[in-house]
Amino acid sequence: MLMTICAITALSYSCKQQVKEESGFQWIVDRFDDIKVLRYQVPGFEELPLDQKLLIYYLNQAALCGRDIIFDQNCRYNLPIRRTLEAIYENYTGDKNSESWKAFEKYLKKVWFANGIHHHYSMDKFQPEFSEAYFDSLVKVTPASAFPQDCGTLEELMATIKPVMFDPSVLPVRVNQKAGVDMLQSSAMNYYEGVSQAEAEGFYAKMANAQAGDPQPISCGLNSKLVKENGKLSEQVWKVGGMYSLAIEKIVYWLTKAAEVANPTQKETIESLISYYKTGDLKEFDAYNIHWVKDTVSHVDFVNGFIETYGDPLGYKASWEGLVNFRNDEATKRTEIISDAAQWFEDHSPIDPQYRKKEVKGVSAKVITAAILAGDCYPATPIGINLPNADWIRKDYGSKSVTIENITYAYDEAAKGNGFQEEFVLRAEDRERMDKYGSLGDNLHTDLHECLGHGSGQLAPGTRGDELKNYGSTLEEARADLFALYYLRDPKMIELGVIPTLDVADAEYASYMMNGLMTQLARIQPGKDVEEAHMRNRKLIAEWCYEKGRAENVVEMVQQEGKTYVVVNDFAKLRDLFGQLLKEIQRIKSEGDFAAGQALVENYGVKVDQKLHDEVLERYAKLNIEPYAGFVNPNYDVVMKDGEIVDVQIEYPTDYVGQMMEYSKNYSFLPSKN
Ligand code: ZN
Repeated sequence: MLMTICAITALSYSCKQQVKEESGFQWIVDRFDDIKVLRYQVPGFEELPLDQKLLIYYLNQAALCGRDIIFDQNCRYNLPIRRTLEAIYENYTGDKNSESWKAFEKYLKKVWFANGIHHHYSMDKFQPEFSEAYFDSLVKVTPASAFPQDCGTLEELMATIKPVMFDPSVLPVRVNQKAGVDMLQSSAMNYYEGVSQAEAEGFYAKMANAQAGDPQPISCGLNSKLVKENGKLSEQVWKVGGMYSLAIEKIVYWLTKAAEVANPTQKETIESLISYYKTGDLKEFDAYNIHWVKDTVSHVDFVNGFIETYGDPLGYKASWEGLVNFRNDEATKRTEIISDAAQWFEDHSPIDPQYRKKEVKGVSAKVITAAILAGDCYPATPIGINLPNADWIRKDYGSKSVTIENITYAYDEAAKGNGFQEEFVLRAEDRERMDKYGSLGDNLHTDLHECLGHGSGQLAPGTRGDELKNYGSTLEEARADLFALYYLRDPKMIELGVIPTLDVADAEYASYMMNGLMTQLARIQPGKDVEEAHMRNRKLIAEWCYEKGRAENVVEMVQQEGKTYVVVNDFAKLRDLFGQLLKEIQRIKSEGDFAAGQALVENYGVKVDQKLHDEVLERYAKLNIEPYAGFVNPNYDVVMKDGEIVDVQIEYPTDYVGQMMEYSKNYSFLPSKN
């Protein structure tokens, strides 16, 4: 299965382009720990016709209703812990200036942000910066009736959640993919219960074998929890009447409303999704995806469901996510030019010709404006998405890929003047190129990565696609990134009119190498290795090219006044190295060469240079920049006149805590124990 949500470097540098009249807009609404919370704008919403506004409104509601699901999927204690913290937060009347209260509030903000008690990116459990005794004192002054009532007595609730919150050795990591341990028993995610890795792998291998040779295989295990009861393995399916039913019923309710105002094509798509939610039948999920991917015309579009499998160490189970959006017609001209040339790109790819796709089908790409982020896409969100994930649907029907430009725009605006570039970019010529072309380079990288990169290439006969196991997603992201990097500096891009000069590529190359070799380390805790797939991929690419180009000094680590800088000396040769690595990673994927894939990732993508890491952390700390960002959503309200809806209004809240409390109040449907 492909894993295709990508949050490319959010460590963006200042960008002086696109200063619009709303430059007075407050982009940053909250900052805590390693997080900043931003707002994004939804330009063009007001001008949409009423039926599209309504469709967005109903789809938004459907998206927000799934919030509890992702909390429970991330760890089975997340809902009772979140609710306990919220009960305390809402009822507390004591000293709000004390260090302990501030630490409590910070912890709660982090739990909201991560959809649980583990960091959304590093996967490590948060350690509260307040004492257990302080927590006890807060519990004592909170009315017992405010706590979750479905976890036994208050004593039982506390006995359940306190070790999970305070004992660092309990459930320390959400997704553990370290080699040599039982990845399920050492991960806190809630996709398996009482099941060993070997048992789960055996269970799904059997299922995969049962559909061997089927040209339309279902995505085994995608929408269920695997449990062992009385020695027997069985799946608890997420559907109406099954696990997570109370939330899914609400989602279905709003989807039904959405279908009523949708155009005929989209109505069919939404109805097929509803049908899947009711049966939990993965064949119906495939049918829905086919409807969805074929609709490249509707202006409004959405993702709603169990989609990406990053949260499962074995890559079977999908987290719930929601995204509602509409097309940015002007910017989409750029992606259409690229997708129209898809076959040219495939034919000229620097990979072994036998692994090129003979016929590239149904590549559609657009630039979109997000209207709501939900589930696993909220508050931290991808900036590009390519779906569906099922290989056979992509092959037979194509895929849709999007670049979410109102989100990247918000990142750029919020990063203005934060001093990052001045601190980490040595040469004035690089800074100038980044100022001028960084934003375009980033967006084009996303376009190429999503629209062409993931869809390119083909497997050798006999290769199933899951051979690379826990290295699969890192290598897949590397493949897509390399495809994008390689073509970004192709003269074809100028010929097509999407870039005015190769300086666009050079800006992207310089920032990519700097990020991969150095600055992304700001996201790693001292002493830790790189774990997350996208970060491993960037490190792998940058380290490999650095090493292979060393004899010719293609990329240099320059020391100046005790500081390290990454400088690209030869952009053309760097492009050549990107092409060579793309060829090798395509071979690894096409042949399912696990040993070679493992060696690449372990040798180049994981281990952190301690000294460089310390330096980056120190320089980052001085700049006071948070390495992660996420978003609050706009609020949408219907305007009624004489019992009819006459408009949908949008407003941009500035209160992160307020939004989280509101969502917990209005969109929380699941019991604490599922
Ligand atoms: Zn990707």
